Amino acid sequence: MIGLGLKKFSCDFHVHTCLSPCADITMTPRAVAKVLTEKGIDWIAVTDHNSAGNVRTFMKALTLQGIKVIPGIEVHTAEDVHLLAYFPDAETAEDYSSWLYDKIPDISIDPEKFGYQLFVNENDEFIGMEEKWLGQPANVKIHEAIQEILKRKGIFAFAHAERRMGILYQLGFIPPVANPVLVEVAFKKTLHEFPSNVAINCLHSSDAHSLNMLKPSMVVECERRTFEAFKKSLLIDYEARVRINWV
Ligand SMILES: [Zn+2]
Ligand SMILES: [Zn+2]
Repeated sequence: MIGLGLKKFSCDFHVHTCLSPCADITMTPRAVAKVLTEKGIDWIAVTDHNSAGNVRTFMKALTLQGIKVIPGIEVHTAEDVHLLAYFPDAETAEDYSSWLYDKIPDISIDPEKFGYQLFVNENDEFIGMEEKWLGQPANVKIHEAIQEILKRKGIFAFAHAERRMGILYQLGFIPPVANPVLVEVAFKKTLHEFPSNVAINCLHSSDAHSLNMLKPSMVVECERRTFEAFKKSLLIDYEARVRINWV
């Protein structure tokens, strides 16, 4: 069998859409695809706060533009920690999303104050609004959130470790919940602050809440942009396959 050969993909694995209350309402599929294309980014993850409600639409719309989307969620745990969950397909992400939805307190918000939570279709038309506030912690502890991700063959990464709602910021340490633990960091200098007792593979992403924030933050070298390749590159072949763009 002849291998396909390795290709370098430009990635941003933490992107919000108009469903996240704190994100700009311009984060719609066509608008996002246009900016990604301009910036040469061809592999992203959609990770809204506590919901996978716009994942399927983004996957469909961006695939048409040659951009691959990993379905994800940024889980807000009971410890006030943000945890990125990545899933093999839209169905699994949606299944996790409904499990999580029931754990989110039934508090609605005034969208004029806290931001609109909008469902969108592939033509950038708003088709609905989430009433429950997605920007609050779910009644789920970190270990339970992780267990449910792994049960669905997903992978997880602690989001923006050194910033507000990041694991280092909130708890002051990185729990040895995996080997290696995937940790998203915002600044290169944070790497020196990591404890040496935990094996860590680092991610870097835009955490874009608006179009201008999207950035080619990582390069992953693999044959094809599949979930399996994503998982293997980050967890197993990290040294050889992953490069971070810190600027
Ligand atoms: Zn976050
Ligand atoms: Zn985020």
